[in-house]
Formats: sequence, structure tokens, C-alpha cells
Amino acid sequence: MAPPRPELLSLNTATVREQWSLEQAIEGCARAGIRGITPWRDKLAECGVEKAARLIRSHGLAVTGYCRAGLFPAADAAERGKRLDDNRRAVDEAAAIGANCLIIVAGGLPPGSKDIDGARAEVLDGLAALLPYARQAKVALAIEPLHPMYAADRACINTLAHALDLCDALGDGVGVAVDVYHLWWDPWLGRDIARAGARILAFHICDWLVPTTDLLLDRGMMGDGVIDIRGIRGMVEDAGYRGFAEVEIFSKENWWKRPAAEVLTICQERYLSRC
Ligand code: ZN
Repeated sequence: MAPPRPELLSLNTATVREQWSLEQAIEGCARAGIRGITPWRDKLAECGVEKAARLIRSHGLAVTGYCRAGLFPAADAAERGKRLDDNRRAVDEAAAIGANCLIIVAGGLPPGSKDIDGARAEVLDGLAALLPYARQAKVALAIEPLHPMYAADRACINTLAHALDLCDALGDGVGVAVDVYHLWWDPWLGRDIARAGARILAFHICDWLVPTTDLLLDRGMMGDGVIDIRGIRGMVEDAGYRGFAEVEIFSKENWWKRPAAEVLTICQERYLSRC
């Protein structure tokens, strides 16, 4: 397998979200020689869409994704309508910054519900409702299956196979994000990455620490945990993926407490040596 290509490293700005504004992250990536970036909605709103788009362009960065939309299952029709409107705004923002895809996190169970099948059906309906708008805006939707520990409160789509079933049902304009943190444990991962093929729109990297001390905010730097990141990179490349590898680390007690420029340097070193 070919070594990782430095020009294909991207920074998901969540990795330095406690240290840097979006403007600082854009400038920090440019300074470090990182060529891709994925902003989050709160930081984009803070910076302003126009200004962010201008800064990203002037620094020559690729926008490898935009986080995030989705969260479809809702308590009632009014709430569903609100979410569809908000998801359409996310599509507009993704288009304005030239994002390669809009990351979709499915959403969990509505409050009080025990109906996970119903929630999953709502995800399909929600995607079907959003998709025509996204197609018109030429924004690809990337369904990101999350680890099953988030099924109740964040995402009831938990395997790549399930995400691909949704893609099959929906047709053009929708694909998947392969995040090693969420999928590394899946015994059918190789089979399903091969099945995904050209529908892989994003590849997210970090590591699974043992022990993990926080379900959300204790992700590891590549090389510090148990994920065979290089092996999974081989699978996505064998499936035809030629895009960026995007570092996405939520780390309340470690990486969010370090100077951001240092975090970027370590991301670059670990990407080259451990991925
Ligand atoms: Zn991810």
C-alpha cells in the first residue's frame, strides 16, 4: 500500500474547537501546510458564511466536508418541519463554502420513545425530504454511521451496511462517511467498504483509546489506540476512494487542552507514521 500523501490530510475543526475560531483554524491549517478543512456549523455562524468562504478560498483549502445536518427523528410534525428547514439551511451553507459533502448524523430516539425501528424509518423519510433540495444545490449528503453506543441519543444508523441500505433506497446524491472511530469494530467492515465503492464521500480518522473515559469526548490521536487505521485506509482505497483523510478528535482532557498549532503538528506526524 502506498504511504499516506501529505497533501490529502484534512482537519476537522472539532479537533481544535476549544482553542481556535474558524478563522484561526483556516489560517493555522494554511501555516501548517494542511490542505483540507471541515468546519462545523456553530463556528461557521460565528465567523460568517461569506467571510469564511473568502478565507478558505484565499488560503487555497479544500473543504472536505461540513458538519453537520440530520437529527431527523422528532416528537411531532412541527418539530420535523423545523428540522427540515434547518437542514436546508445547512445545505445552503455547505454550498456557499464549496463543501465536498454535508455530513449527516441520523439522530436518536425522540424523548420518551422506545421505537428504534420507527426512528430509523424517520431517518429515511427525513433524508428523502431533504434530498431534492440538496441535489438542486449540488451538495452531496454523506450519511455517517455512528458507533452503536450513540444509538439512543445521536444516531440510530450504526453500521455501514445500514447506511448503504439507505443510499440504495434513496438513489443519487447521497453517500457515506467512513469514520474509523465508529466502524472499526464491525466484523463486516471490509465487505461493506467494498460495497460502498464510489459512495464513500469522506474518511475520518482518530483512534479508540483503552480505556475510553468519556463516550463522546475522549477520542485518541492516531496511533494511541487499537484501531488498525492503515488497514482501513487500505480498504477505502481498494474501494476506489482517493479523497482526503480527515482528522476528527474530540478530546476534552487532552488534545483540547494543548496549543492548537502543536496538535496540528502531531496530527501531521501521526498521519504519516501511523495511517
Ligand atoms: Zn466523523
